[in-house]
Amino acid sequence: MSKWPIGVFASVDAGLGVNFEVVKELGIPSIQLHAPHKNTRTQEAATAFLEKCADAGVTITCVFGGFDGESYADIATTARTVGLVPEDTRAARMQEMKEISDFAKLLGVDAVGLHIGFVPEDTASDSYQNLLTITRELLDHVKANGQNLHLETGQETADHLLHFIDAVARDNLYINFDPANMILYGTGEPIEALKKVGKHVRSIHCKDGTWAAEGRRGLDWGCEVALGEGDVGMEAYLRTLHELGYDGPLTIEREIPEDPVQQKADIGKAVALLEDLRAKILG
Ligand code: MG
Repeated sequence: MSKWPIGVFASVDAGLGVNFEVVKELGIPSIQLHAPHKNTRTQEAATAFLEKCADAGVTITCVFGGFDGESYADIATTARTVGLVPEDTRAARMQEMKEISDFAKLLGVDAVGLHIGFVPEDTASDSYQNLLTITRELLDHVKANGQNLHLETGQETADHLLHFIDAVARDNLYINFDPANMILYGTGEPIEALKKVGKHVRSIHCKDGTWAAEGRRGLDWGCEVALGEGDVGMEAYLRTLHELGYDGPLTIEREIPEDPVQQKADIGKAVALLEDLRAKILG
């Protein structure tokens, strides 16, 4: 693929991504795929989906894990329910994430992505230490499948995420950078954060958002909005990625599955915006 192919976050039967029909209609050449439910993570399903992708000229660049019981209702609920951090479900979800990695291998995809959850602040805690252990175990499984693991940003500050990656100390752990999440979760100014974690970034989301009210950042959600209408600053974002030497896909996320008409319209506009900026920046 040439530098910066447009992409979109897509779903088959689970998750917040767009339907594959939208990907086809808009002629988008790459997707990140939210992992389908367990009963459709089969060789047959993988073969059928790969045929659909080949027909539409679509490349799958990353498969994202997600789990039953996750809720992004508000920041506190997200902290309690999302990723590998919640201790009650940690072992079961780690097993499921290994299975998602196996499914990604069936799709011929060399990257799996994950919201690991809110990495505990207290690095001396049992919870943090156990999270390190199971993350390493997952990374070894992922590596045996010839894959890297990309952690989604936003639930930690850039500094805390860097510290975690260093502490895990494996060579197949990278970052999927989502600038809007830094704003939505109130974890830091996105361009500044991107510069800090840049050398670990192997995939990105093109998503936009507006900050929560001053004094409420990190407590209340910011607002996810159509690309170019929020506080990220798409041109500065892409210019920073260019400076960092990022060549991968520009994967659009628009998380309003409850309004598929608006979602498709917003994604169409995001494609046009990114194509314009790409031409302007890359010349
Ligand atoms: Mg994202």
